[in-house]
Amino acid sequence: MVYETNSPEETYEIGKKMGEVAKSGEVITLSGDLGVGKTVFAQGFAAGLGINEPINSPTFTIIQEYDTGRITLYHFDVYRIADIEEMYEIGFEEYIYGDGVCLIEWANLISELLPENIISVDISKALDKGFDYRKITVINNGLR
Ligand code: ADP
Ligand code: MG
Repeated sequence: MVYETNSPEETYEIGKKMGEVAKSGEVITLSGDLGVGKTVFAQGFAAGLGINEPINSPTFTIIQEYDTGRITLYHFDVYRIADIEEMYEIGFEEYIYGDGVCLIEWANLISELLPENIISVDISKALDKGFDYRKITVINNGLR
């Protein structure tokens, strides 16, 4: 599935719609360059789960947990991990194979740790289409 947006609000809405239908145990990866809108998408996704706390990029903590929604959200940002070992140190597998929903920014950096059954969300810019244009490609289990 491919979406095109022209504002942060539209990207937020797509995240929100996915959050509204998210199921326990889902792992969603978010890829795309710095500043492309991964955290905007995550904020919408959290709102869709009914989470009413502010969502920030958890860059300095790797993982942030939110318990106030319909399903627990584990929001990862693995941009700064230096070594895959760090993921085992934070107990990564318990989150991935647990009952919550995992949303992982920069998941491509830990691709060898991810289960096969994931929903991947890739966001990209196309500067010829304007500064606020984003293409959002969602692939669910390899099906577009
Ligand atoms: P990332 O988490 O990918 O590094 P952020 O979500 O923190 O990126 O930031 C995205 C930035 O791009 C925000 O400043 C947002 O306002 C801006 N932006 C402009 N157009 C869009 C769009 N269509 N979708 C999402 N963000 C957009
Ligand atoms: Mg971010």
